[in-house]
Amino acid sequence: MDYSAKTIIMHVDPAAPEPDVITKAAEYIRAGKLVAFPTETVYGLGANALDPEAVERVYRAKRRPANDPLITHIAQSTDLYRLADHIPAWVEPLAQAFWPGPLTLVLQRAAHVPSNLAAGLSTIAVRMPIHPVARALIEASKTPIAAPSANTFTRPSATTAAHVLEDLYGRVDVVIDGGPTTLGLESTVLDLTQDPPVVLRPGGVVIEDLRRLIPEVRTVSQYLGDADEASPSPGQLLRHYAPRARLMLYEGPAAAVRSAISDTAARYIANGRRVGILTVNEDAAHYTQLGARIIALGEQHDHAAIGRVLFGALRALDGQGVDVILAPLLDSEGLGAAIRDRLLRAAEGKVFHVGQPTSHEA
Ligand code: AMP
Ligand code: MG
Repeated sequence: MDYSAKTIIMHVDPAAPEPDVITKAAEYIRAGKLVAFPTETVYGLGANALDPEAVERVYRAKRRPANDPLITHIAQSTDLYRLADHIPAWVEPLAQAFWPGPLTLVLQRAAHVPSNLAAGLSTIAVRMPIHPVARALIEASKTPIAAPSANTFTRPSATTAAHVLEDLYGRVDVVIDGGPTTLGLESTVLDLTQDPPVVLRPGGVVIEDLRRLIPEVRTVSQYLGDADEASPSPGQLLRHYAPRARLMLYEGPAAAVRSAISDTAARYIANGRRVGILTVNEDAAHYTQLGARIIALGEQHDHAAIGRVLFGALRALDGQGVDVILAPLLDSEGLGAAIRDRLLRAAEGKVFHVGQPTSHEA
């Protein structure tokens, strides 16, 4: 067997992780084993980034295709200089402003760094997390840690240790349980090998804040997923973060979205299907009579609250065996951009536009 038959679960205080636990987990990393751990974004599936066999194990455990590169996590910003070459001038102000934190920088990879870390690309994606457990683990391991999200490929990312175990029990050596992650959404991926820099994935550091530092920063919209379009960020495949149930997204004036969701839910339920509804708190009361499973994510404009629980809500509805999940597509201000991106990927880019004349009605 190429993975452990059993997974060890270690509990830590997320604010002040017990040194003996961290030391033990770091021994596993140094031995080339897999350790899942909490970060401020989502749980990471960690391995020694400088050990190509350990990196290979990450791909296998996640069932991740070999063309989907991993993010390398460091404890000091100066560690970057050991992993990357031709470091552009943007790095210093970016690291000053956003590290430690949920910003991943794509740079030219140094020659000695294993190429499977970056799925064979000449680049490397690096981030310095702020979560005390992540930082302590990297420091104690005395090596950078490669850590993609600790979920099975295409599934919603794991924001609790229970989610990690749901997907990866028996496939990782250790899970460090440090409670739920604070942000609940992955890092922003910023490609600094292009000039001006390009946001490859919206995430925890919002584009409005990046723009204050780099006014010319560009974004790419990949979730539109035209198969002929070259993918600027390998691995940002269209179907991602997806629940098993079919996710249907609605966009338009609030009242039209509410009635489209209610009507669709009623139709499915009349046909004997189980329906889940993701909603903002303000709208929850509209759906109570339908007989659907309803999860209120948070107040409409509280993107931080919605982001924190989004992946868990998709998993919870799957756990209840729903056939379809109906949800509104929210605005894209601030963290809303990352939420929108995750919903669009989970729905494979399909959105129902309601309450507006369609173009061919003119
Ligand atoms: P995950 O760690 O699961 O959140 O996924 C990491 C994502 O970061 C990948 O799916 C890529 O889209 C992106 N990424 C990682 N390394 C690179 C790289 N060298 N170049 C471009 N994108 C990258
Ligand atoms: Mg992922």
